[in-house]
This record gives sequence, C-alpha cells and structure tokens, in this order.
Amino acid sequence: MSIAGQVIRCKAAVAWEAGKPLSVEEIEVAPPQKNEVRVKIHFTSLCHTDVYFWEAKGQNPLFPRILGHEAGGVVESVGEGVIDVQPGDHVLPIFTGECKECPHCLSEASNMCDLLRINTERGGMLHDGHTRFSKDGKPIYHFLGTSTFSEYTVVHVGQVAKINPEAPLDKVCVLSCGMSTGFGATVNVAKPKKGGSVAIFGLGAVGLAAAEGARVCEASRIIGIDLNPNRFEEAKKFGCTEFVNPKDHNKPVQEVIAEMTGGGVDCSIECTGSTQAMVSAFECVHDGWGVAVLVGVPSRDDSFKTHPIHFLNERTLRGTFFGNYKPRSDIPGVVEKYMKKELELDKFITHSVPLLDINKAFEYMLRGEGLRCMIRMDA
Ligand code: NAD
Ligand code: ZN
Repeated sequence: MSIAGQVIRCKAAVAWEAGKPLSVEEIEVAPPQKNEVRVKIHFTSLCHTDVYFWEAKGQNPLFPRILGHEAGGVVESVGEGVIDVQPGDHVLPIFTGECKECPHCLSEASNMCDLLRINTERGGMLHDGHTRFSKDGKPIYHFLGTSTFSEYTVVHVGQVAKINPEAPLDKVCVLSCGMSTGFGATVNVAKPKKGGSVAIFGLGAVGLAAAEGARVCEASRIIGIDLNPNRFEEAKKFGCTEFVNPKDHNKPVQEVIAEMTGGGVDCSIECTGSTQAMVSAFECVHDGWGVAVLVGVPSRDDSFKTHPIHFLNERTLRGTFFGNYKPRSDIPGVVEKYMKKELELDKFITHSVPLLDINKAFEYMLRGEGLRCMIRMDA
C-alpha cells in the first residue's frame, strides 16, 4: 500500500543537544512539498562534518536536529513539480545542490549553485522554511538539506543524484561527500598526467580519496604527507608510494619534497585544513607547470602568506569545492566508474553498525579509528 501523501512514522537518530549521544527514536516525517522528494534511506555513513556540527563548537547551535549527509536510498514519493525522479529511483542525497538554472549551474566551470549551495545554518526546507521532521508535533531541524540519519528524509530535488539501480548503496553512498571531494580534486582539478608525481597533504578519508584519484590517473609517484605516522600503513593500500612526516625534518617539508623530486612535484592536493600545509602544498610544486589544489577547510580567521615569486615562476594555486562535481549531472557518472571497477570504494569502508549503534560510529571517528563507518538503517 502506498504511503505517499501521508505522514510516515519511522526511526531516526536525533541530536537533541550539542555533544550528547544521539537518541534513536520514532519521529514523524511529513510528505514532500513542491520540488521535494521523500527518500527511504538504506545506508548512511558518518563524515567529520556531522561530528563538527554535533559538537557545535564556534557555531550557532541548532537543536534538535537530524544530522547525516553521506547516504544512499530509494525515492518513496515526490512532491509537486518533481519530474526528474520518481518513486523507486535509487538516489544519493548530496549536501550541495544543482538547480540547473542559475549562472553557476549554466557555467561548465562551476558547481557552486546559487540556489542550493551548501548552507549549514538552514534548519528548514527552502520551499517554506518549515521542517518536515517532528516528534509529537515538536519540529526537528534539518541538516545540510539531507538529514540522512533517519529511515525517511525529505530533500530538495536539486540535491538528489539519480544513480544506476544496480549500484550497491552500501558502497556508493560514500560518494555523497568525502570520496567525491578528494577524488574530484585530483581528477577534475589537479589532473596529473600519466607517469607524473603527486603530493597529498593529509591522509584522512579525503586525502586517501585524492590518492585514489592519482592512482586512477596512473601517477608514478604518490607522496603522502601527514603529521600522524599511523596514517602511513593504511595509505599504502591507496597507492601512496612514499611518505614524509614533516616532524622528521628540520627544514620545511616543501624543501624536502623538492629534493626528493628534482625540483618539485607535478601537482599537490592539500586535504588537511591547516594553512601551514596549504603553503607547503603550493611551494612544493615544480616551477614552470606545477599545480596545487586546496581542499581542506581552514578556521574562520585563518590567512596565509607566500612570496609572489612562486606565482611568477609559473606555479598555479587552485581550490575546489566537492571536487568540482555537479551533484546531479556528474555523480551518476562517478557511480558508473565504480561499477566498471575504475574506482575503488570498498577500502574506504572500515566499520559497519546498525542504526541503533550509531553512537559507536561517532566514537570511531573521535578516536581517529578507520575511515568510514557504514550505518545500516534496516538493522
Ligand atoms: P581528517 O581529519 O581525517 O584528515 C586530515 C589529516 O591531515 C590527518 O591525518 C592529520 O594528521 C593531517 N594533518 C593535519 N595537519 C597537517 C599538516 N600540517 N601537515 C600534514 N598533515 C596534516 O580529515 P578528512 O575527513 O580527510 O578531511 C580533510 C579536509 O577536507 C578537512 O579540512 C575537511 O573539512 C575538508 N573537506 C573539504 C571539502 C571541500 O569541498 N573542499 C569537502 C569535505 C571535506
Ligand atoms: Zn544552480
């Protein structure tokens, strides 16, 4: 029997207060309104951004809230005006959208949609500002327009990528955020040539996805740089051929890399959020052609300094948001790459828990254990 148009009662992990364990309980999910889609989430994984907004340090706290933004699911019903997807379609909800009409969406160069660009402060839906989640009538706020820590969620149609229904949702769901960001930074922005050298700063999930991009581009040297030596063993599985720990040297790491590579790497990708690493990532690329790409999100008041001569000597510095992918137009193609075994995702998924144990996923991340913990909604 169809439940379209009706309120659904289902389980969700609710964050009632900053830093307090999530509580798995029954909530109500209203039907999708104009340009909205209601999605049954099958799998969701935990990313640093969820933890950051759960801790709510240095932000305007917004609670109670349903977090979660890396997920895979199936469309249950659609609201008025939705023609691109229909019930039964397999989708990945994405934290940043693509309206397909604004100047950014119409530009080939940009994925920073005016209408649906990431908005961390918004707690309601774009259409009417209201929430579709409630508990005994009391509203529960949305997060990034996705709120995937719920068996059912409501998402703007511009924030769902319709994917191949054959794709395993418990694997491709990591393409909703971190993996696409790192992978895209390499393949779409740094674009190393076959046989080239690549330096990756920061060997967390995003940096390792950038390394996966370098492997796919057939780079010959993939140099991983991290302050935490525990990261090095794992990084070997992701194609890193050499490692540098800046703490092991008494000169700047960019000089170490220049010596290792006869003047610098062909490209570098910074995935740390540290401005010191950003400067090193830029200054370690070869003059004449080197390209550095910034991915890490710095602290609010950060700035950095480098000598302009590095630009005059024909080095390029770029930055990227979500690996320059347009969520609806491009992500289905990345899923196809996984299906054709051109891109590996399984190695990113190091843990798995049922929804009831979602707080364990937070513990793994806080302890820096593993890369991605898969949360199974039906278990
Ligand atoms: P993570 O914390 O798991 O990994 C970061 C790694 O960087 C750690 O291993 C840490 O030891 C290392 N590191 C920190 N400072 C360093 C330094 N100075 N030199 C060398 N290594 C250093 O984080 P993650 O989940 O992999 O995310 C990486 C970054 O990407 C974060 O800043 C995150 O906010 C950002 N991010 C950006 C986008 C985007 O669209 N631009 C999207 C998602 C995440
Ligand atoms: Zn747009």
